[in-house]
Amino acid sequence: MISLKDALKLSGEEIKNLRIELEEKIKKEKQLGAYVEQLADLPLAKFGEGIPVAIKDNIQVKGWSVTCASNILQGYVSPYNATAINKLIEHNMSPFGRTNMDEFAMGSTTESSFYGKTLNPLNHAHVPGGSSGGSAAAVAGGLAIAALGSDTGGSIRQPAAFCGCVGFKPTYGRVSRYGLAAYSSSLDQIGPITQNVEDAAILYDAIAGYDKMDSTSANVEFETISDKLDPNKKLNICVIKNYVENADEENKTALLKTIEKLKSHGHNITYRNLEDSKYDVATYYIIATAEASANLSRYDGIRYGRRADSKNLKELYINSRSEGFGEEVKRRILLGTFVLSSGYYDAYYIKAQKARAHIKAQYEEILKENDLIFMPIAPSTAFKFGQIKDPLSAYLSDIYTISVNLAGLPAVSVPVSKAQNNLSISAQLIAKAWDEQTLMDGALSLENIIKG
Ligand code: GLN
Repeated sequence: MISLKDALKLSGEEIKNLRIELEEKIKKEKQLGAYVEQLADLPLAKFGEGIPVAIKDNIQVKGWSVTCASNILQGYVSPYNATAINKLIEHNMSPFGRTNMDEFAMGSTTESSFYGKTLNPLNHAHVPGGSSGGSAAAVAGGLAIAALGSDTGGSIRQPAAFCGCVGFKPTYGRVSRYGLAAYSSSLDQIGPITQNVEDAAILYDAIAGYDKMDSTSANVEFETISDKLDPNKKLNICVIKNYVENADEENKTALLKTIEKLKSHGHNITYRNLEDSKYDVATYYIIATAEASANLSRYDGIRYGRRADSKNLKELYINSRSEGFGEEVKRRILLGTFVLSSGYYDAYYIKAQKARAHIKAQYEEILKENDLIFMPIAPSTAFKFGQIKDPLSAYLSDIYTISVNLAGLPAVSVPVSKAQNNLSISAQLIAKAWDEQTLMDGALSLENIIKG
């Protein structure tokens, strides 16, 4: 598949042909389930003239159905474009097809989608990761040049890693959340999933920057990074040693080899343990579910999407929400409502906020002396379908991605090795807030070193 960088040099006629070619491929590869609908259902005219970019089904595109892969949003048509979509259009790109995801971005496998599962293009017996599994599968399967996903606790980085592509979560506040269906507002960020590091930087440059439509968008200076990428900088990289050692054998071996390669290319490597990671999962799942329970209260059967049959107003709410939400979403609404309820608020929610501040401070301390942090993305390669049986195991598998969102930092996953069964292994790099330039300089260096 042509890279985004090269696609941006094509003429109008060539772009048109590229879109037709993509559409045919998507139809042929229907069994992957990367897109929630066949592109034929969305007339080409609706795509605009730009380079096609696949869009996760939780980002508003005017005139499109946007459903967060949920039954409750069936029938909802977006009346406006997300800021990220308007910015794509300004940069000669166009939204092209809705990609599959875990319902309301809650999950790590894309199995909780109302539309059914997405296959990992590297091995169809394995999940593509989640929640942006459709975006990652589309890019890895050659069904998209590039895609947008959203990352609340790893949903860009982990599926990109499971499918062998690059996933980049910007600093919280860098990309406008206007038009992104909120899951956990203090953690959500839109970002690119691409075939390589340079494309991720190009797509990031297009969508980033202050937006007055989002009160959490940061009014800080923004400079483009793709035109200044420098893979030859020698960086101070801190390896989180116990995280690398605790990953499964395959990941550990690949990551240790990668560290040696980084060293021999002149990067300065130091080691450090992070002892308190057991609090990360608890903190994340209290904050994320609390915010989700508040955010999802707007889906009441009246204002958006699907309404259930009912005899009175109370029944309308109950039936619409009971029929509309899937099991995992209901579990999180219950959990979130519980941790926010009076009597438990201090014990759970307030405590989680304190733990969050502690996690952030730990990262900031490490990044005072280092340009980057290096650690795994996930404890293992892509799970087999059905392998993760209970919700708690799924939550625990998020251990290496969620703390980055709690700290609001930018991070990227870069493929570093082939694994058994044709699967892929990635490393995660994390940088200081607002320092996406150093992050992607390091990512490009790593990508070049791996390519050899
Ligand atoms: N797996 C995590 C969760 O289920 C992260 C999801 C995400 O980043 N949207 O919450």
